[in-house]
Amino acid sequence: MRIVVLAGGIGGARFLRGLKAAAPEADITVIGNTGDDIHLFGLKVCPDLDTVMYTLGGGINEEQGWGRDDESFRVKEELAAYGVGPEWFGLGDRDFATHIVRTQMLDAGFALSAVTEALCARWQPGVRLLPMTDDRVETHVAIGEGGERRAVHFQEYWVRMRASVDAHAVVPVGAEQATPAPGVLEAVADADLILFPPSNPVVSIGTILAVPGIRDAVAASGAPVIGLSPIVGDAPVRGMADKVLAAVDVESTAAAVARYYGAKGRSVAQTERAGLLDGWLVDTVDAGSVGEVEAAGIRCRAVPLMMTDVDATAAMVREALALAEEVRA
Ligand code: GDP
Ligand code: CA
Repeated sequence: MRIVVLAGGIGGARFLRGLKAAAPEADITVIGNTGDDIHLFGLKVCPDLDTVMYTLGGGINEEQGWGRDDESFRVKEELAAYGVGPEWFGLGDRDFATHIVRTQMLDAGFALSAVTEALCARWQPGVRLLPMTDDRVETHVAIGEGGERRAVHFQEYWVRMRASVDAHAVVPVGAEQATPAPGVLEAVADADLILFPPSNPVVSIGTILAVPGIRDAVAASGAPVIGLSPIVGDAPVRGMADKVLAAVDVESTAAAVARYYGAKGRSVAQTERAGLLDGWLVDTVDAGSVGEVEAAGIRCRAVPLMMTDVDATAAMVREALALAEEVRA
């Protein structure tokens, strides 16, 4: 079975680990978000691609969910001693090597997709990891009031400010001019199943869908499209997804996120966008919202959705596979 997953960082990566356990025979293509990418110290950093690569390749810092295991921060300390920041973005010594290799290859003229493949030759993630695009896309967040209104890079909003102020808008700068990376549209067209893991609907999956062609390809797919809610009990399981959902006028509920993606074959309310989902899983604590999601034209089940370990995550995946079979039937 050919499975395509649109993934952000931690939520996507942990889900993928469960997917590999639950469907070891599957041919998995991951379309990764690159809207979080940032240039630091002259280096190109791709946080979401690296989180997927390190998690599946066995190099992740498990407690943190991002960055390398057994990490040290001596380079960062030395940079700080020169007064060179930003000090708020945690780049460890081992992690630096990845960004140096990536930047060197990009400077030599390789596309990000080719660079990602080269990095994965070391990590052997067991999936085909494709960036959503080889073009530069950077998510910016509009903050501030009146004359103070300004846009900041997503990482500045998320990591430095910890999303402590309201976001008025989230803009994937460059997305409109971007084209999907080689293999992305083909993977979607050839998929037997498309999964939206519990990744951020706005700044992870939403950014991938903003690359022209990707949303339409998913909407047009004959394969079931099944999503799993990152919102449990009306709040993100971790992180501040509620802040960016508010910026796009979506409530932080499992049902509202499902309606934001929309039902396949219908258009999303108040927008011109094509709906995407055949099925949606909510956590058992949100069982009361199943009727609302089904009324929107999306098959819905309430099952445990906490990725506490690989077994629990694999069980979530099996529920998603079962819902896909139901949709197919
Ligand atoms: P990021 O790029 O590292 O922010 O990660 P993603 O975009 O892939 O995923 C972030 C989302 O994962 C957040 O909105 C969390 O609420 C969600 N998430 C994290 N852990 C869990 C979990 O165990 N269960 C569910 N359902 N969602 C989770
Ligand atoms: Ca991310």
